[in-house]
Amino acid sequence: MHGLMMDRPLLISQIIDHAARYHGDAPIVSVETTGGITRTNYAQARARAVKLASALSKRGMGRSDRIATLAWNNHRHFELYYAISGNGQVCHTVNPRLFPEQLAYIMNHAEDRMLFFDRTFVPLVNGLREHLKTVEAFVLMEGHDDELAGEHDWLEFYDEFLATGDDDHRWPDDLDERDASSLCYTSGTTGNPKGVLYSHRSTLIHAMMSATPDVMNFSARDCLLPVVPMFHVNAWGSPYAATMVGAKLVFPGPNLDGVSLTRLFNDEQVTVSAGVPTIWAGLLAHLASSGEKLETLKRTIVGGSACPPAMIDKFRDDHGVEVLHAWGMTELSPLGTVNNLKNKHYAMSEAEQNAVRITAGRPPFGIELGVFDDDAKQLPNDGETQGDLYCRGHWVLQDYYSEGEPALREGWFPTGDVATIDPDGYMAIRDRSKDIIKSGGEWISTVDLENLAMAHPDVADAAVIAAAHDKWDERPLLIVVPKQGAQVAQDDLLGFYDGKVAKWWIPDAVQIVDEIPRNATGKVRKNVLRETYGDVLKQAG
Ligand code: AMP
Repeated sequence: MHGLMMDRPLLISQIIDHAARYHGDAPIVSVETTGGITRTNYAQARARAVKLASALSKRGMGRSDRIATLAWNNHRHFELYYAISGNGQVCHTVNPRLFPEQLAYIMNHAEDRMLFFDRTFVPLVNGLREHLKTVEAFVLMEGHDDELAGEHDWLEFYDEFLATGDDDHRWPDDLDERDASSLCYTSGTTGNPKGVLYSHRSTLIHAMMSATPDVMNFSARDCLLPVVPMFHVNAWGSPYAATMVGAKLVFPGPNLDGVSLTRLFNDEQVTVSAGVPTIWAGLLAHLASSGEKLETLKRTIVGGSACPPAMIDKFRDDHGVEVLHAWGMTELSPLGTVNNLKNKHYAMSEAEQNAVRITAGRPPFGIELGVFDDDAKQLPNDGETQGDLYCRGHWVLQDYYSEGEPALREGWFPTGDVATIDPDGYMAIRDRSKDIIKSGGEWISTVDLENLAMAHPDVADAAVIAAAHDKWDERPLLIVVPKQGAQVAQDDLLGFYDGKVAKWWIPDAVQIVDEIPRNATGKVRKNVLRETYGDVLKQAG
């Protein structure tokens, strides 16, 4: 016997409909690529998204056709999210920081029919155009510009395209919640990127859980500024979760430097934010040198790569901001875990609480994690036994888009991370499986060594790699970018590990570099570091 409750599909259009209906005047503030600020709200954003959807239909965009964006976090990008998915097409957010060959590969692979992009990317798109086999229309996300139109006869302008739509367009009434809604390609540090195709259902369930207090904790009382780009796993789903609850939204456009962000945070009274550690390191350095404060910010979600514990302390001690350390992946929409304490932790000492806080957190309802050994045997959640991290849940990928190889192993998605899980579900990432160091048969976590190096007062950035070693097979090599003007000595850096890790974990040597190579989503390209420095310990004998 079925229950006798309404059977309404979970659809992305319902999020913006709800926000327009009950939070219509909640502001959406957007920094324009050309400078200046546009102010709109949920009611206006919905009206424009509906009209844009109509323009897409009139242009002949059919069910599940892919439509690409190359854009910053701004209000037009937000409208496109809802217009494209709401209308039954697939919103394919493309990361402009990828190499042009990768961009062409991704858009050809996805068979994108239209491309919407910001002014910053006009030269990039102009160069790419001839390599894009399926894109029929190139729409610049601005009003008409005579000069640009004269220079590039292939350009269309967003506001003119929008004007071709009807105001009274209706969302399609035959969408299935399992229909595809949006598409992201994994950044991949090696090999071709792979597509992850989200559904309306997975997106809505992810958004519903994301907003809850133990996850991102969004409410109508918040003002969210997502620093994480809308081309990086849909800004971690925050434009859906925050809209669902009617939070004020602030989009920073292309200006992600410390000065611009600090001004925007304080002027717009932002209460919550989200971004990768690299961005926060820049912001904290700016605040330290300028003496400015984050006047209204209460919380920030930090993830995408390991958040150094020193960053958690600095946010709390200098700015009263709580860091919510999160772990996720494109394949997980992306949220897997977020670090929030439980009731029982408040009775514990500060040191005990800190030991919990530095982990990547625990999974919310909807995500199940497990650690497995090489023979696919599940290992205990004892906080000590480390293994390959596997995941399953309501917003976890089942198959890659157009990939032949099955993505799952016995119903679980292998994340490629190596982790421990404690009995309360708190998970600690020890490494990417291909980055971990095996020294004389024993594992050494590069994440732990990097976190410690980042706590050194003269270190701006650090990475640890496995370097080949005649006796131990692999030994850790510390690669460091000193803070501006700082002199760092190898003995001092290595001495800093004394008493903090087992003696045999201490790296064998230090390389000082100007910059650590990162990929388009800010992750350290350890394969590049290994190619350059992987043999230095051998050469040294
Ligand atoms: P992406 O799909 O590009 O977001 O990359 C996902 C990968 O980023 C994960 O498999 C982890 O290796 C890494 N990652 C994400 N969040 C964290 C975190 N909090 N700590 C350590 N690694 C992380």
